[in-house]
Amino acid sequence: MAEPRMQDRAGSKRRGLTDSQWLIRGALGAVLYAALALVPLILMLTPSRPTGRTFLREFSVALAFGGMAMLGLQVLVTARLRRLKAPYGIDAVYHFHRAISFVSLALVFAHPVLLIVDDRSTLSLFNVFSSPLRARFAVLALVALVAIIVLSSFRQPLRLSYERWRRSHGALALLMLCAAVAHIELVGYHVNSPFKRELWLAYPALWIAVIVWTRVFKPARLLRQPWTVESVREERGRAWTLSLASATDEMQFNPGQFVWLHLGASPFAMAEHPFSVASSAERPESLEVTIKELGDFTSGVGLTPTGQVVYVDGPYGQFSVDRHAADNYVFIVGGVGITPVMSMLRTLADRSDLRPLTLIYGAATLDDMTFREELELLEEKLSLKLVLVPTEPPPGWEGERGRVDEPLLRRHASDVASHAEFFVCGPEAMMQAVSGSLRHIGVHPRQIRYEMFGLV
Ligand SMILES: Cc1cc2nc3c(=O)[nH]c(=O)nc-3n(C[C@H](O)[C@H](O)[C@H](O)COP(=O)(O)OP(=O)(O)OC[C@H]3O[C@@H](n4cnc5c(N)ncnc54)[C@H](O)[C@@H]3O)c2cc1C
Repeated sequence: MAEPRMQDRAGSKRRGLTDSQWLIRGALGAVLYAALALVPLILMLTPSRPTGRTFLREFSVALAFGGMAMLGLQVLVTARLRRLKAPYGIDAVYHFHRAISFVSLALVFAHPVLLIVDDRSTLSLFNVFSSPLRARFAVLALVALVAIIVLSSFRQPLRLSYERWRRSHGALALLMLCAAVAHIELVGYHVNSPFKRELWLAYPALWIAVIVWTRVFKPARLLRQPWTVESVREERGRAWTLSLASATDEMQFNPGQFVWLHLGASPFAMAEHPFSVASSAERPESLEVTIKELGDFTSGVGLTPTGQVVYVDGPYGQFSVDRHAADNYVFIVGGVGITPVMSMLRTLADRSDLRPLTLIYGAATLDDMTFREELELLEEKLSLKLVLVPTEPPPGWEGERGRVDEPLLRRHASDVASHAEFFVCGPEAMMQAVSGSLRHIGVHPRQIRYEMFGLV
């Protein structure tokens, strides 16, 4: 490996914005979102209520416009717009996206319910065999929205593969938005003044612009910046490290961030997978990702030929010591959740950063612990306390064992609970248990960062 550049090695230096600058950027994004979500709702509630239309009727329409604006903005929330998303972690974006779907569903559902309360005859519009086209589009949009939420909430019990879910999610979202726009246009009543009409048309225009950017312009840019697989290395725990290099590009990233990889697929295809960069941020000329064999795609990663072209979209995410300044860090990981933390540790070692660190690493066996030997070396190089927690320890093992639970966290992290930053990455059940235990030992939720590997 190349030596890290000397000017970057000075102590605990970090790149980019300070915590408060990130906070301000995050708050500005939130204000922009709130404005875009609320403007249609407020506009529809403007005082000039026409004669013959009840408040309830107008209110129901305003709620529906608000819900629709939020649903349309989901395109923006989930799009990979790096500058816009940079202040937020992937877990926050995921939870927000999910919560907004339910809020929007409630708002959109309230529309027909309030119309029926206002005038019972509205109920007949639900008979799609006899109702006018505008009402059929409304029913279609509602059904598509319910289908999106059901499939996303129950993908795993329904045994729907991630790829199929993703394709159906995109198609249903498009269907829902088109049907809703058709409904609004056919009703016509609320978009009949030029200003309201232009404003309302600006929303679909924004959705289309974001889709064209993410699905056409961005892949076209990636196509011009191909990376290649330089080596494929087997690791402990059924994992493989791909070392990637680019003749045209160098990626500056914060340690712990992740990228979307198009491995053996065109950047225009939807076949892309997220992986944390595991290598040091001080060596941006060569990216390493370590991938655990899990399903269709990851099981074949070990067979990747060297020289294979890869398209790398990133970096993304906030799960990084460079984004959260502290004097003391505690990392709690399970299984392949070690990868983003490995990047942070390698980077801190390259920077000769001697801030106190604790790594609590759970896995089935010691043999399954990816990077175990390197971690033991890093223990010497950094000010690192390494706590390996195998659930099935070998005979004679005197260290921790079993689950990463509250008593274990109390033993190894209670002394820094009030001031350290905590980074947690691993299987969902483990993250939830650790989150509860950390709170019990006195860690404030504000001090905890999560990286979720399973998005749906
Ligand atoms: C931010 C982030 C960082 C990650 N970093 C790493 C890492 O460093 N090393 C590692 O081994 N794994 C990492 N993962 C997980 C990795 O992306 C999945 O294990 C992989 O995509 C599974 O693909 P599969 O087809 O082999 O497995 P499948 O069995 O098809 O999927 C297993 C699970 O992975 C998720 N998944 C599958 N396909 C995709 C996709 N195209 N996009 C998003 N999620 C998907 C779904 O939750 C699915 O339930 C990371 C995930 C995220 C979100």
